[in-house]
Amino acid sequence: MAKVFFSSWNGKFIDGRKNILEERLDLQQLDIPSQLDGKELRAFIGWAGLIIVDPEVNLVAALKEYFRFVQKESCGRCIPCRIGSKVIADRLEKIVEGNGTEDDLSYLREIGKLVKESSLCELGMSAPLPLLQALDEFKEDFYALLSGANAVSDRELVYHPILTAPCRNGCPAHIDIPRYIEYIREGSYEKALAVNREKTPLVGTLGRVCVHPCESNCNRQPYDQAISIRLLKRFAADFGRKNDYDRQTNYSIAAKGADRVAIIGAGPAGLNAAYQLAQKGYAVTIYEALPVPGGMLTVGIPSYRLPRDILNAEIDLVKKLGVEIICNTRIGTDIILDQLWADGYRAIFIASGLHESAAMGCEGEDACYNGFIPGVDFLRKMNLGEKNELGDSVAVIGGGNVAMDCARSAVRLGVNEVNLIYRRSKKEMPANADEITAAEEEGIKFHFLSNPVCILEEGGSVSGMECIRMELGEPDASGRRRPVPMDGSEFILRVDSVIPAIGQVADLNFIPKNSKLKLTKRGTLEVDAETMATAVPGIFAGGDIVFGARTVIEAIASANRAAEAIDNYLRSGRSTVGNRLIMEKYLEEMGVYDEAMVPEMVGERKRLEEEVRPTEERIQGFDEADLGFEHPSAVISEAGRCVKCLRLGLAVL
Ligand SMILES: Cc1cc2nc3c(=O)[nH]c(=O)nc-3n(C[C@H](O)[C@H](O)[C@H](O)COP(=O)(O)OP(=O)(O)OC[C@H]3O[C@@H](n4cnc5c(N)ncnc54)[C@H](O)[C@@H]3O)c2cc1C
Ligand code: SF4
Ligand code: SF4
Repeated sequence: MAKVFFSSWNGKFIDGRKNILEERLDLQQLDIPSQLDGKELRAFIGWAGLIIVDPEVNLVAALKEYFRFVQKESCGRCIPCRIGSKVIADRLEKIVEGNGTEDDLSYLREIGKLVKESSLCELGMSAPLPLLQALDEFKEDFYALLSGANAVSDRELVYHPILTAPCRNGCPAHIDIPRYIEYIREGSYEKALAVNREKTPLVGTLGRVCVHPCESNCNRQPYDQAISIRLLKRFAADFGRKNDYDRQTNYSIAAKGADRVAIIGAGPAGLNAAYQLAQKGYAVTIYEALPVPGGMLTVGIPSYRLPRDILNAEIDLVKKLGVEIICNTRIGTDIILDQLWADGYRAIFIASGLHESAAMGCEGEDACYNGFIPGVDFLRKMNLGEKNELGDSVAVIGGGNVAMDCARSAVRLGVNEVNLIYRRSKKEMPANADEITAAEEEGIKFHFLSNPVCILEEGGSVSGMECIRMELGEPDASGRRRPVPMDGSEFILRVDSVIPAIGQVADLNFIPKNSKLKLTKRGTLEVDAETMATAVPGIFAGGDIVFGARTVIEAIASANRAAEAIDNYLRSGRSTVGNRLIMEKYLEEMGVYDEAMVPEMVGERKRLEEEVRPTEERIQGFDEADLGFEHPSAVISEAGRCVKCLRLGLAVL
């Protein structure tokens, strides 16, 4: 087990230098992963200090490397950071080469302090910290090099640098948020859009439906409020669309004879993998079971949250790259999985999602009564323009976003009374707070701490539900308090239709019986977390079929990972991802956001709220309900709240 020789990380000093190895703290106790890309971590130098595992590490050489990287990443807007980092790196190099003097040490300290105190952004403010700590705590390492006694070469060390930010680390696709916000602040919306497009074509889509985990990692949050990262993205995408930014985009189509890749499913994971692979020169075909591409973006999420012209324009970007999307073709039925190899595909990406409703375990749910419509079926039919027979009153069961989509859609379809049944209390509801508020405003009746026991019928049609009241017991594996039925508290709810929306499961019938693909206990595909490679060489998988019901941005992130691994697989026969992705995963485990490390900010400024269509107007139909930011002045002002908390880290292996 890796032990901490010395750590000053996050201001917590742990000094194991006088201890024997066994007495030193395990690295794990600092929540720092001890391995990176299968190799042992020897040291980590970064924005929050120093972590040294291997006492033999040449710290001065590693610091030199760190400052070379700072110099490269400095935007140059402030002289102390750009010039100071070069001066520091040069002096450290002089010392490493055995040509340093004591004056160099005092000079390094002075310049380090100057850069820290006079830089304009967090990159310059935080970068000198490990140097200043090393000068205090590891003087002897510097002096050993000054005397020339230990002028070791730094060649044997492997360095993995990374520039990130708490928000960027929180976004599963690691979109360069500080960079696109900076472009928005300057009014360069095209560049802001381009930064997002490095990772995905679905920028306007994410700007509407992303659950924005980046914002929970925003350093402004503990100070006043997180930056509206998602809505800034939406603005850049919408502005680009209005101003025809894609007009001159030069799309290159895969060359004749390029390696072919097959993708199963045209949801966000499949579309994103195709987008990345096509840009790498592969000939990509997506097979989609439904008549339309988009996956849950098209047949799940209702159009009042994601207008279809926005989504379709982004799907068109993928098609313009030469990607062929073949709809109405179900792998496993129309084409068997193994046939794809015979058809000449050299790699396969499975992105088939979860399209079956999970069972409630309630009497009558399998009886096929008219008016009993599983949530994903209800939304699919509605989104494909087919009619659902709901009657005058409906009960939606569940407390997540899918349940909210079903209930809010039912209101828009003209159902008089929409009930929502949830077995825990409002506090435990997994749906977004904004969705719950909107549902309340739209007149949906919430029945908390209630659960269906039996679906009631008359003449083969739903006539109501027998429910039971619940109370909350001890927390379960999810950390939420377990709902427990209260004996004798049964009650009847009279409704014309019931829509269960408590979760989704995968239809795995497309996997041949003799397949070596491995499944998890949850009925999802097992993959390598880094490369998304399955147990079968050449087959990769991503999105909900791997994670279970999760989010659009996680599907996108996994597809980007898989695309990189597929590219390497087709070039070298080995499924690997590059250093950037390896480091990002490492930082995800390590955590970049620390509430206690809020950078200095001047003046509290609340974030701007978006325009929302008035309730009476929005429930009349499926026009977009949330309107985002309309004016450049609003987005420039919101982007101006960002304090650019860039974080630079260097792993030494
Ligand atoms: C109602 C609803 C609302 C949601 N709201 C949000 C939200 O607001 N924000 C958010 O981040 N996430 C949301 N999600 C979750 C999000 O939509 C999913 O996490 C995401 O779509 C998963 O992407 P995917 O590409 O893995 O799968 P999917 O989007 O499910 O796409 C899979 C595609 O594969 C096709 N397919 C399946 N089997 C086969 C086969 N054998 N052959 C060919 N094609 C096949 C399917 O038809 C489908 O088109 C929501 C989900 C639902 C159901
Ligand atoms: S203030 Fe800006 S850079 Fe800092 S975490 Fe928030 S969005 Fe990211
Ligand atoms: S995609 Fe989502 S998580 Fe990533 S930056 Fe945009 S809003 Fe944040």
